[in-house]
Amino acid sequence: MMNIEEILVSRLGKEVKDCSNEELYGGLLEIVQEMAEKKAGSEGKKKIYYVSAEFLIGKLLSNNMINLGIYKEVKDLLAKNGKHISEIEELEAEPSLGNGGLGRLAACFLDSIATLGYSGEGIGLNYHLGLFKQEFEDRLQKETKNPWAQSKSWLKKTDVSYPVQFGKLTLQSRMYEIAVTGYENRTNKLRLFDVDSVDEGIVKDGIDFDKDDIAKNLTLFLYPDDSDEAGRKLRIYQQYFMVSNGAQLILDECTAKGSNLYDLDEYAVIQINDTHPTMIIPELIRLLMERGLTMDDAIEVVKKTCAYTNHTILAEALEKWPIHYLKEVVPQLVPIIEILDDRIRRKYSDESVAIIDKNDLVHMAHIDIHYGCSVNGVAYLHTEILKNSELHNFYKIYPEKFNNKTNGITFRRWLMYCNPALTEGLTGWIGDGFRKDAMELKKLEELADQKEVLDALLKIKHGNKMLLKEYLKETQGIELNENSIFDIQVKRLHEYKRQQLNALYVIYKYLQIKKGERPETPITVIFGAKAAPAYTIAKDIIHLILCLQELVNNDPEVSPYLNVVMVENYNVTLAEKLIPACDISEQISLASKEASGTGNMKFMLNGAVTLGTEDGANVEIHQFVGDDNIYIFGASSDEVIAHYDKADYVSADYYKKNPIVKETVDFIDGPELLKLGSEEHLTRLKKELLNKDWFMTFLDLDDYIEKKEQALKDYEDREAWAKKMLYNISNAGFFSSDRTIEEYNKDIWKCEK
Ligand SMILES: *Cc1c(COP(=O)(O)O)cnc(C)c1O
Repeated sequence: MMNIEEILVSRLGKEVKDCSNEELYGGLLEIVQEMAEKKAGSEGKKKIYYVSAEFLIGKLLSNNMINLGIYKEVKDLLAKNGKHISEIEELEAEPSLGNGGLGRLAACFLDSIATLGYSGEGIGLNYHLGLFKQEFEDRLQKETKNPWAQSKSWLKKTDVSYPVQFGKLTLQSRMYEIAVTGYENRTNKLRLFDVDSVDEGIVKDGIDFDKDDIAKNLTLFLYPDDSDEAGRKLRIYQQYFMVSNGAQLILDECTAKGSNLYDLDEYAVIQINDTHPTMIIPELIRLLMERGLTMDDAIEVVKKTCAYTNHTILAEALEKWPIHYLKEVVPQLVPIIEILDDRIRRKYSDESVAIIDKNDLVHMAHIDIHYGCSVNGVAYLHTEILKNSELHNFYKIYPEKFNNKTNGITFRRWLMYCNPALTEGLTGWIGDGFRKDAMELKKLEELADQKEVLDALLKIKHGNKMLLKEYLKETQGIELNENSIFDIQVKRLHEYKRQQLNALYVIYKYLQIKKGERPETPITVIFGAKAAPAYTIAKDIIHLILCLQELVNNDPEVSPYLNVVMVENYNVTLAEKLIPACDISEQISLASKEASGTGNMKFMLNGAVTLGTEDGANVEIHQFVGDDNIYIFGASSDEVIAHYDKADYVSADYYKKNPIVKETVDFIDGPELLKLGSEEHLTRLKKELLNKDWFMTFLDLDDYIEKKEQALKDYEDREAWAKKMLYNISNAGFFSSDRTIEEYNKDIWKCEK
């Protein structure tokens, strides 16, 4: 067998040292793709189809080389020739096919499905410009397009194509594929559908485009702005396009393998990732009837084949489409949806479980629950809330369908790749079994009293801070103090995630320092977050943070002790650099609102200590690490739910009664910040907090400040802190997506390896 160097040299026609980085990237990409293809496993009888509007896969070169077992050889080969793997990685654009957690989860799941040896694939859309790219201009978020497909690309065009009908318009699809490598195991595929007629040229300034020209705009962007009707309809076009292609592909593949369609569930299981792919249910029923099944039989077959994952209890995120939109975009599905609704109405008089409500809105989640075999939440607390309140009326009808699958993350990307120093340390201390069996991390606990191990953990953390410092300096011109405490909150910007709470802490700390109360070790509060383009208050919060960054970092009395940094365009690539460098992981959503979170798991695995509410998977993290190794604050989910039920939370009362709330909130549009920022944005944000504060920021402010101060104080005892880091790492095994996928398979999918 030839080694990588020989393959590379014969392919590129020259010595490695004489190649440009571009040539090396192109050569490695081809080699990796060929190696991946050779590992395509057998189809097996039953296959998992994970249908999702988002796959936030991140860059692929190094990840694939790790999974194929050639990363180290390539890295050393490059180094020997004066090249740097990191410079070559920089040439790859990150596919921006997701918003945040939901899309990243889909990517982690594909990795684990392949790593565990299951036959499974992702089905989604090939958005040419992905999610927007975030730039800051005048301390405001500006959206620009984010083309990611390059001439040398992981995308492979296929000749698979299906007709998809929208009323009078029929579009012919085109399927693309990306290889999904498993760690020392098989290769699966991510299949992304597209149309040849899409025209990136119609995008004007920023991310504006003609929303009515479907043939040209269908797969331009992920989640086009839905603040107007044309934008909302475009989403339905996209969703139907995705699921119609998926359904046709699934039926063709299963028929080819011998299914008579009545036994479809023995050949396929379809996991519906949130409600975006829900139309696959009526579409499959329609196609099965076209292929000769009666409606009764078609419904029974589909019911056994489809399973639904719920990702949120935020009402605004549970999709409801006006039936007249569907009549316009997908008229062929409407009679089917009406029959599905009619059958439910005949059986259950409870209006709250109907599919089409009195206002002619179609509740997508209700289709999934009635006409699928499984409904799962994504963390223990989330599933309990679904069963006991949000979906209680469904739970009463179908208790057997409800189940929990606590989310997970792939340790290949979120430990082995992003934190090689820690990976090496762990291998030395507990062997390398943890790479395949994450629960082996628990062995680390036996070393919790060894000073060398604790010192090494601190040293590794410091090294990662240096690497982050260099990276942010180089790419964004940001200066970090590597000797400060890195307190990091990176995730989508949303009021429920409460970046505004963290911003109020920054104001509090700024004022304390101004009064002469200086922290022992300097603190760097790091933010990274994109706001949805039409989400006004979220953009105002970004503005506040950027103004604080300016104020704090340029105040000579304060900046030696406190810095604020907001990184631009937070994405997977940045997450991979930020997370290993973090000391304090901010997971401060209002209890009951964060379904699971997966950022919390990545931070824990990399030795950060969580400062968080009892929300989502924080609850489980707390149980695993124990009270001493996490900082929990704030109202419980029961308390929060009771406040909503009674509608008795009045933010203005806190402002009147609590001097810290008053002082920090008044600062938002006080003279210091008005000098730097826009009055419109800052006053609007302050008013929102005073008059609404829908996510109860003021309720938890005191406790948040207290627990954060405690964490900062505890940080001073370096050895005790290192022990907390160690307990977080050693208890992270449960949060491997390998565990999550084995649970999905055991309880829902029931596929053979
Ligand atoms: C993991 C991840 C998320 C999810 O973060 P949460 O804190 O769980 O919301 C979002 N974006 C990126 C880029 C991620 O890697």
